[in-house]
Amino acid sequence: MTTILTEQMHKTSLKFRLWFVSFVFFLLGGVSLFAQEEIPLRKPNAPKLPVVYPEIVLPEGLGPHYYVNAEEVSRLQTAYESGGKVAKSLANIVRQAQFAVGVPITFPPRGGLHSSLYHCPDCQRKLKPVLDESQQIEHHRCGKCDKHWSGFPYDDVYYTKVHAQNFKRGLLVAKAFTLTNEDKYAEFVRDLLVGYADRYRGYKRTKGILSPGRYGHICSTDHEAGSLMMQYLGPMYDMTGHHPCFTSADHRHLKGDMIEPMMTYFDTATMRGKSNHHSFHNAGYIWGGVLTGDKTRIAQAIYGTNGGFIEQVRTAPSLEGLWPGGYAYHFYARRALVRTAEVARHIDIDLYAEPQFKKMFFLPAQEVMPDGFTPNFGDDPGKYVVGRLGSEEGYAAYRDPALIPLLSAEVTWESVLAGRTMPLQQVEFENESILLPDGGHAILRGREPASFSLAMQFGKYGTSHSHFDKLSFILYGNGQQLGLDSGKRHSVDYESDVHQAYYRGTIGHNAIVVDGHPQQRNTSNCELLEFEAEGVIPYVGAASSELYDGVRQVRWLAVAPEYVLVLDQLHSNKEHVYDWWYHCKGENGTVEQANSVGQPRKESVDPGLKYIADIQRGNASENLLWEVSRNAGQFRLTLANESETSVLTGTGPLTSLDKRVPAVRFTRTGKDVTFAAALEFVDQDQEPFVFNIQVFVKEEKTSVTVSHANGNDRFVLTNDQFLVLDGPRTSRE
Ligand SMILES: [Zn+2]
Ligand SMILES: [Zn+2]
Repeated sequence: MTTILTEQMHKTSLKFRLWFVSFVFFLLGGVSLFAQEEIPLRKPNAPKLPVVYPEIVLPEGLGPHYYVNAEEVSRLQTAYESGGKVAKSLANIVRQAQFAVGVPITFPPRGGLHSSLYHCPDCQRKLKPVLDESQQIEHHRCGKCDKHWSGFPYDDVYYTKVHAQNFKRGLLVAKAFTLTNEDKYAEFVRDLLVGYADRYRGYKRTKGILSPGRYGHICSTDHEAGSLMMQYLGPMYDMTGHHPCFTSADHRHLKGDMIEPMMTYFDTATMRGKSNHHSFHNAGYIWGGVLTGDKTRIAQAIYGTNGGFIEQVRTAPSLEGLWPGGYAYHFYARRALVRTAEVARHIDIDLYAEPQFKKMFFLPAQEVMPDGFTPNFGDDPGKYVVGRLGSEEGYAAYRDPALIPLLSAEVTWESVLAGRTMPLQQVEFENESILLPDGGHAILRGREPASFSLAMQFGKYGTSHSHFDKLSFILYGNGQQLGLDSGKRHSVDYESDVHQAYYRGTIGHNAIVVDGHPQQRNTSNCELLEFEAEGVIPYVGAASSELYDGVRQVRWLAVAPEYVLVLDQLHSNKEHVYDWWYHCKGENGTVEQANSVGQPRKESVDPGLKYIADIQRGNASENLLWEVSRNAGQFRLTLANESETSVLTGTGPLTSLDKRVPAVRFTRTGKDVTFAAALEFVDQDQEPFVFNIQVFVKEEKTSVTVSHANGNDRFVLTNDQFLVLDGPRTSRE
């Protein structure tokens, strides 16, 4: 009996899973869950079409037509023949292909399975494949207990890798054929494609423990099959299919025994509509459609109801063009959308004209943080935005200089195909403040000298990959990250306690925890009070009563050239415990008044608190300064005195339980509580800019004075109206 548990699975869920698996085992009357059993496809249910849609016209004559057309082939060949630097990456393709055609193709006896099944059942350690002399799989070895495992499902996971290598090789060789017109390359691709068509119907669908019934033919899921079609099968066949080595029987075989059944497989999918899975089905449909000449399939991809391309891009992204679930999903879905749009472009259908699709290309450049990543809200590691798949195609479609910083500098196959044959000078992003009222992001960009970039999250709780992070923010300034969202720039087991309690929890964010509980799921965006991008000190204010029952939470963030002001007000009819958290990379986070070693406080119920280590505690009724050593300077966070405050300093997990970063918690109790803090970074040999911060709360009016090297700035808050009175200032130098 084996399980699919991953290495870091928490003990509680481990027990639960084992119990659950045993229970299912019992129900099945002892039939092994891993037995290979052929199962029929779900009943196909092809996407519907509107009554009327534009006529689809396919090009005539020999290909290639859909991945590259005659003009693009000639551009690629000219660039390749030009020699020198520009041709370097193209020459590389041909050099690798020369080697690739000499290695015989291995066709696995079955389709592949998901890599999460590739663990030693005894140790949960990832397995290693061991091959015999003829490069066939012998067994799978556990690096910890040294046991050998073989058969299903381990072989099948390994086959995923073999299939992937085959298709990568096929695409590379097909590109080499496009560049050189040499017969041997087309012949290799023909043999590979026909080899798969020979086997496709024989690759049985098998039951597995993950999503029973979804394991497919070559790939384990239907959207992976869409990905296979759009990324490999379609382009390979398009580039080589006109070569005389393909007989008419080959073409009938490829279409009838592989491409058409794959489309029937997409018809059985349940994830449709706005789902990114269906973006991949669409890419599969349009490719299958053009290769078989089936215009209904092409129409389903573009005009289909319940999730055709046009419907998807009009309904799924936020009004600003942000795909739901953050940038990990944004770029993932965009890959498939771009593949669909590219085939459409080759049959004179302009999908790039769809306004929401267009925004999906521009938004990452506008939201990019100084480290080149998009804000990492939710289960999203943040994405490095330069050179992502689709950036060349997007630039070719819109020709807008704002997209140039997103391109990688080199000339590549993709850039030449899209029309760019010259290397680029690396171009800087023009960072300006931006508001996404629908997507729920506000990004403030400050002036020099600190040049802060601050991104606030005020969206609604969206998917299971959302965090309880509303009204939290991340901060960059003085050329480094100064405030972070703890999760997730790391590989994580989504079900583990540390992920659920800490990384997803409110505690792992620069946010306020009320009574030790993480926030509730807010069903609508937080209320945007004001967004002011102009002036010496841009600012944003947002509020919500949905995060905690009976508590209205208001947060104002103001970005001065030298420091950031964070002003929080909490209102309630009942007494609450408000924990104000902040996390910053660096070392030795200290508050002078926190000078006694302490355990997590007994009364706290925050399930994430057990992950805070190196705890020091104290109490004070005066201004509190948290200092963190960072890059030979100091990050300084000064909290204004307002009422009795408990302070806790410690470290919280970042990329793992061992890789920790300083964290601070200021706790105040009451019905209505105010927190006002000034944050700045002070370089080595420099004096702090901020001397003092004072807050005065009087009935409906709250005023904050920040005293600094050049004078005073005042911030006045009256009934959700925020007024900034910035004093005179000279540059810090
Ligand atoms: Zn083991
Ligand atoms: Zn988060």
